Amino acid sequence: MAKQKGEVTIQIVTSQIVRDAILPISILSLALLTDGPWCPLRHFVGIPCPTCGMTRAYRALFRRDVSEAFSMHPLFWLVPILLSIFLLRRYNHAAKKIIENGFFWGGIITIFVIVWCLRMAFLFPNKAPMDFNNNAVVYKLLNNASSK
Ligand SMILES: [Zn+2]
Repeated sequence: MAKQKGEVTIQIVTSQIVRDAILPISILSLALLTDGPWCPLRHFVGIPCPTCGMTRAYRALFRRDVSEAFSMHPLFWLVPILLSIFLLRRYNHAAKKIIENGFFWGGIITIFVIVWCLRMAFLFPNKAPMDFNNNAVVYKLLNNASSK
């Protein structure tokens, strides 16, 4: 039996949503399965990056510990909003406009940098997730060089 026009349209839209969701969901899954040590800045230099703590924030959220989630990363709630806008961009004109707006992304990056500066000022270097990594590659090399 031939498929109805509406049925075919629904299948195309569904397959686009699945295709669009694979990359963000894969990145999110990888981030949730691994934790802090995989951050390149923290691993090599020792200082946390602007997104450090995001994984631990979601782990806390999955345990329904909202205050711990905010203390691990105050901007964790922005991720599902950004993800929704990204996924809706093909079907919603306003979402497409937002995704293509450089000022929007500039604003998001600025917010992350400001929050990172505040977290560095108040939490670094002792309070997780903004703690210093004493096993960082550069830090170990500098320590070895100065001890010789
Ligand atoms: Zn990081």
